[in-house]
Amino acid sequence: MLENTPPEFIDIHAHLNFEAFASDREEVILRAREQKTWTINVGTQKETSASALKLAQKYSEGVYAIVGLHPIHTSASYHDKEELGDEGKAFTSHGETFDYDFYKKLASDPKVVAIGECGLDYFRADPATAQIQKEAFIAQINLAKELGKPLMLHIRNAPTSKSAPQKSADVSKSASAYKDAYDILKEYPEVKGNVHFFAGTTDEAKMFLSLGFTISFTGVITFTHDYDEVIKNIPLDMIMSETDCPYITPVPYRGKRNEPSYVEVVVKRIAEIKGEDLETVKKALVSNAFRVFKL
Ligand SMILES: [Zn+2]
Repeated sequence: MLENTPPEFIDIHAHLNFEAFASDREEVILRAREQKTWTINVGTQKETSASALKLAQKYSEGVYAIVGLHPIHTSASYHDKEELGDEGKAFTSHGETFDYDFYKKLASDPKVVAIGECGLDYFRADPATAQIQKEAFIAQINLAKELGKPLMLHIRNAPTSKSAPQKSADVSKSASAYKDAYDILKEYPEVKGNVHFFAGTTDEAKMFLSLGFTISFTGVITFTHDYDEVIKNIPLDMIMSETDCPYITPVPYRGKRNEPSYVEVVVKRIAEIKGEDLETVKKALVSNAFRVFKL
């Protein structure tokens, strides 16, 4: 009964495939569908990529998958129970080398609408892993190129003195992950995609716009004005909405687990910041997602 109804909202970056939704992901999807919200679930390593696709295959439309290797999982990484559950501890102690053929097989399914989340993370990962991250990133760009699918980028700069005062003199930590990712991507002009959870400057946003990449925002924009200026500078046809659930719940749901049905408040906030009519923004964001992910 919910099939064949065009969506009003699209959460282009969710993780209903994660352990945090093990007991009720079907209900969460139903809640989203009742709000006319479609969901794209993103993998971070082999298991979560396979489970994102498996979930998408259960629905004829409205639930899609993205498969790939997150930069923090290219080496030993912090164990997040919400992501992998207790059993995933052995995995996060060593990480994963990007297995091109494994991901190519998954990504060839029509329900897989992009490759990722991939990119560079200089915030949570040790700077010594930058080279390993770059190799996995380039392999995923090549996969996107081979399959003609877009990229879902995860890029995070090193901590600033404001966000992490304890990290200090390490020179490599001060590098811009956005600039490094841009330098890699500009060699692949045929590959496009979206920069997820944008947390850079207006200039960094413009670099990606110049490559033809869209930029998406989470519930962060409901509780900080840090990105208002960036959002005002992004054309309406190049911006998208996401929750990154189960993380980063928007106002007024702070304290609860995040979910795709909350993406509506992110869209409303984008409309407010841009000073545009809500219906216009809703339509633009849905049509941007249809265009980028060929839904
Ligand atoms: Zn994510």
